[in-house]
Amino acid sequence: MSEAENLFERIIAREIPAEIVHETSNTLAFRDINPQAKTHVLVVPKTRYRNVAELAAEPRLLAEVITTARTVAELEGIVESGYRVVFNTERDAGQTVFHVHAHVLGGEQLGFFGR
Ligand code: 5GP
Repeated sequence: MSEAENLFERIIAREIPAEIVHETSNTLAFRDINPQAKTHVLVVPKTRYRNVAELAAEPRLLAEVITTARTVAELEGIVESGYRVVFNTERDAGQTVFHVHAHVLGGEQLGFFGR
């Protein structure tokens, strides 16, 4: 497995430091090292799936990732003001780490995105 593939496994194993925001038995939430918004937290399942298309085969775990994203939003105080949950999937979406992760973004007005 390449460095980019096992990076989040190493964060989950506490081999690489990260600012952990929340943890459940099956998920971990930690701050993105290069934040794109005031709040920018990544939520990962502890088991590796390459992307959200693969994780979709495990709907309970996918739901737990989304629930953890909501808990992160609660902890950050951004449920009412609003937040965005993004899964970049493969090349055209700019996925760089191939352990599925939800970006939780908020804490300020977000711009539109796309092309
Ligand atoms: P992707 O582009 O795959 O959707 O998102 C990968 C994210 O991982 C990027 O937003 C990037 O800033 C973040 N990232 C890359 N390396 C590290 C790291 O070592 N620690 C943390 N906390 N985030 C990282």
